[in-house]
Amino acid sequence: MSASYPEFVWQNGAIKPWAQATVHIMAHALHYGSSVFEGIRSYPTPDGQAIFRLTDHIKRLFQSAKIHDIQIPYTLEQLNAACREVIKANKLERAYLRPFAFRGLGGFGLSADTPTEVAVACWNMGAYLGADVLEKGIDACVSSWQRFAPNTIPAGAKAGGNYLSGQLVAREARRLGFGEGIALASTGLLSEGAGENLFLAFDGALHTTPVSAALLNGITRNTLITLAREAGIEVVERDLPREYLYLCDELFMCGTAAEITPIRSVDGKPVGDGKVGALTKQMQKLFFGLFDGSTPDRWGWLEPVG
Ligand code: PMP
Repeated sequence: MSASYPEFVWQNGAIKPWAQATVHIMAHALHYGSSVFEGIRSYPTPDGQAIFRLTDHIKRLFQSAKIHDIQIPYTLEQLNAACREVIKANKLERAYLRPFAFRGLGGFGLSADTPTEVAVACWNMGAYLGADVLEKGIDACVSSWQRFAPNTIPAGAKAGGNYLSGQLVAREARRLGFGEGIALASTGLLSEGAGENLFLAFDGALHTTPVSAALLNGITRNTLITLAREAGIEVVERDLPREYLYLCDELFMCGTAAEITPIRSVDGKPVGDGKVGALTKQMQKLFFGLFDGSTPDRWGWLEPVG
């Protein structure tokens, strides 16, 4: 996000000017990472601006909160409405929405019953990993940092603290001159990108790592599995060893922010012929087609801003 901030945020039930949306320095989440959040995009469509899978994202926010015992004092409908309200207040065309809930001020211990604060920020966002990456792809590396081991930090929750891992992976990759880092699970098998799920193509089929591989069960991942199967493309969820990154025909990352970002090399080795492959392009066409109307939305994924 650039230094020109949007005008308004939604905080604890009301729209407020950006500068007034503050928290106390002793808020629990600031010290212990005790927040849960979502990242959601809105797109212009022929039927007006739509928020992509808003309800599914807010459901996942509640699931993350459930895992971490964070009580959210709003309903799903209220948070959906808050997301719409903050986009409209800021008059954004292509918004990235950031709803989040966190343990606020009140008590000092790890298990203190702190009140939950809830907010929704949003801003305009283009391609997350840089201009023209969707067409050209990025060079990725396997990180020296692994993801959390099972039954340590739950990877299935989208919690603030989890993103210390993502920061180590992403910052190491940037420092070494790569566009993004890919992490292995504690098993040594493939997990996911710093903030994206992975798809590998072999012989016209898509393979993606399973939720047991210490990853966030991405809504974009689910979208692509659904769209691919509808189009008659085989999709396999399976454990994959690291070296398959070097052997696959095509490779891409996906996520709300990254959308569908092709990967043209890993650890300096070209993926396939080093160019964006046909299956990757087909998945981009199906996915972005949801927003120009060329892919019919049979699932009610486009939720109008109104
Ligand atoms: N993995 C991680 C670690 C992420 O942060 C994200 C982005 N939320 C994803 C995967 C992709 O998830 P989604 O498609 O729901 O945005």
